Amino acid sequence: MYDIIIAGGGPAGSIAAERATKNGLSVLVLEKEAYPRDKACGGGVSQKALEVIGGIDKGLVEREIFGARIFLHDYQNFTGRLGSRVAITTMRRDLDHWLVNRAEDSGALVHDEDPVKDVTFSKDCVEVVTPKNRYRSRMIVGSDGVNSTVARKSGIRTRWGSDIGLCLETEVELGDTLVEESVGTDITEFYFRGMWGYGWVFPKKDRLSIGIGELISQVHKPKDQFMRFVRDISLQKKIDLEDRITRINSHLLPLGGFGRRIHGERVILAGDAAGFVDPFIGEGLYYAVKSGEIAADVAVLAVEKNDFSRNFLAGYATKCEDAFVSDLKSAMRFARFAYGDLDRFLRILRSDRRLFHEYLRTVRGDRTYAGFNRWCALRSPVTFLKLVSG
Ligand SMILES: Cc1cc2nc3c(=O)[nH]c(=O)nc-3n(C[C@H](O)[C@H](O)[C@H](O)COP(=O)(O)OP(=O)(O)OC[C@H]3O[C@@H](n4cnc5c(N)ncnc54)[C@H](O)[C@@H]3O)c2cc1C
Repeated sequence: MYDIIIAGGGPAGSIAAERATKNGLSVLVLEKEAYPRDKACGGGVSQKALEVIGGIDKGLVEREIFGARIFLHDYQNFTGRLGSRVAITTMRRDLDHWLVNRAEDSGALVHDEDPVKDVTFSKDCVEVVTPKNRYRSRMIVGSDGVNSTVARKSGIRTRWGSDIGLCLETEVELGDTLVEESVGTDITEFYFRGMWGYGWVFPKKDRLSIGIGELISQVHKPKDQFMRFVRDISLQKKIDLEDRITRINSHLLPLGGFGRRIHGERVILAGDAAGFVDPFIGEGLYYAVKSGEIAADVAVLAVEKNDFSRNFLAGYATKCEDAFVSDLKSAMRFARFAYGDLDRFLRILRSDRRLFHEYLRTVRGDRTYAGFNRWCALRSPVTFLKLVSG
């Protein structure tokens, strides 16, 4: 019997596995896909996420990002930039493979192509069924992404509500010169279109990640919407991007900032499975690795005390609340404010360079959303008061 089974070897699962093994637990990671596997993602990794990961192999860094360019409806645009790195871009296929190798090197057992199909809970253990085998453990971490089997089988969540987004993404190979000419080397582009969500163009070494993400309730013919976006970008950049598309990936994205249940008897959820995503920009990697880290620490304590009760594992929810969930609620207040009247918000952002600067610092991890909201309210009480008052 393992101390913990980790369902899903994405960033949340790999960080949890590495940390739990380093702290003496026996860990089995069950991953549905074969590594290296793709994951629909812009591949932007914020500085605060990199700090939790504890540094990154240089070869994984596609571009170092210092700022953002915001495009309005009419393609007028403005740029904000920090003196320090806000994020990097990477290829998720490589990053996730590297992270799971790190977990394996620290002693975790990793089975890929071994998807969790069923989970049953008894008084003494958790039994996990895959097409290949049955495994037993003292507890389970569900880090199996937005469509989490563990969340369903444990009864924590049967389905998402309307608090979820849909993203479509593609990687277009252009060669590094064209990437640099069309976007630049150190800037990510965001295209706001008056909806809850946005389009993005992120530079990688020799390709662009192009995508759109929006609330599922707004989605209508998503592929058509995506292709319209690609055609608009092609016109704006004077490059035929449409012809270079080989594959379009789509994936759901849960929005964070809600008080959701994330634990039960012998089970905790981490990363997307728990719904930990920034509701304004859709950043999920920081919350995935941070919750993976906390999941490992709580699992170590549970094993030490031999206590896997729902009551004891409530400590996981409390630690997540303190570390970032309460801040995701502040991010949600900010998102409601900004998307509630996007034109007004973008006007303010455009005219107030300091505001843009402070927002980039928030993404970088220099300040929290709560601090950012308070800063906004102090700077312009009339405009921003309802942000802090919620
Ligand atoms: C299009 C798009 C663009 C995005 N861009 C960014 C970005 O630029 N920056 C950012 O920070 N965030 C971004 N996000 C969010 C980010 O991708 C996620 O928040 C992040 O991947 C969550 O990590 P995770 O480990 O929780 O889940 P995942 O990365 O989804 O990993 C879950 C793992 O579980 C496996 N799995 C699923 N079911 C089972 C099962 N039954 N048994 C075993 N294994 C299973 C999957 O194969 C997968 O490997 C984006 C999301 C989308 C959809």
